[in-house]
Amino acid sequence: MNTTQYKNILEEYTTKKIASYIADVVAKGSFQFKIAAHRVSKLGDFSPKQGNRNYHRISVNGSLNPYAFFITFIHELAHLKVWDKYQNKVKSHGDEWKNEYAKLLIPLINKNYFPSDISSALISHVNNIKSATQYDTVLSQTLDKYNENPASEDDESIYITNLKIGDVFVFRGRKFCIKEQKRKLIYCETIPKSRIYAFNPIAKVKPINIKNEIR
Ligand SMILES: [Zn+2]
Repeated sequence: MNTTQYKNILEEYTTKKIASYIADVVAKGSFQFKIAAHRVSKLGDFSPKQGNRNYHRISVNGSLNPYAFFITFIHELAHLKVWDKYQNKVKSHGDEWKNEYAKLLIPLINKNYFPSDISSALISHVNNIKSATQYDTVLSQTLDKYNENPASEDDESIYITNLKIGDVFVFRGRKFCIKEQKRKLIYCETIPKSRIYAFNPIAKVKPINIKNEIR
């Protein structure tokens, strides 16, 4: 497959500009790039050459929105670059990886590969890189806005961090009330009252309108 054909396939998953960037990187690199089916457990992965496979492989979920797709590709590409320099002698999301990731990402932010809201989220993101985009609340919420099926209130699809103290919500079939926020966690009490649980701010929940509940 030539680069143009490859670019055409990528355009089904992301923007023209990003598709041509990825197609160029893939054409110049000596690795296989695979667009994977949706996986709940991961957004993408990097697998170094092993056994009979004499080339590295990067995979990214095709179910991601155009920008999450690209950021995941860059995340995995940074793993590939770290592997070529250090193999498995360094931590997978250590300083070496953070450096490669930032080095790849910063020029892309500057060259407007992303809409302005994602660019702003990415600027804070590269200054405090977490191992996965989902751990960066602002970035993951900004990226979610570009999903084809935006969060519906019927689902457990609202970030808990968007609710207030006293709000009631359902999480995995159980009802909770928000009690307090301490450090980075949100403490909630089950209803009826019994136990306190700590939630990560990016937990997705279904808010309940309490006025409709009490009759
Ligand atoms: Zn990683």
